[in-house]
Amino acid sequence: MGLLDKMLARLQDDWCKGCKCTMEKTRKQLFALPSVTVGHYVEHKDPGFYQKNLHIVEKKADIPSGMYACGAIQYRCPECGRRVTVLDPFLPVRDEEKHEGTVVFENGELDEFLWR
Ligand SMILES: [Zn+2]
Repeated sequence: MGLLDKMLARLQDDWCKGCKCTMEKTRKQLFALPSVTVGHYVEHKDPGFYQKNLHIVEKKADIPSGMYACGAIQYRCPECGRRVTVLDPFLPVRDEEKHEGTVVFENGELDEFLWR
């Protein structure tokens, strides 16, 4: 995949590739990633990594400074019913967030773990 394709794919995380329409946000949850600290971010594509390392938190203030957070959003296509989970790892820095790029799971790899 070329760089442009990658950028477009990221912009279209909430697009159903089959129907070319915007998907609905059905669920949202914030997690802490205690095993990932400032300066040590590496992108993981393995759902097992997230199952081991995501810890549910209520709000960003619950995440100690220097520790990564990860937003999770589940989208559902209103046309075909397909579900997609998008993870958005970021480092909270004071009032800002340093986002690292989303990781998308299209085959329900994390559904049982995240949305049980
Ligand atoms: Zn669809």
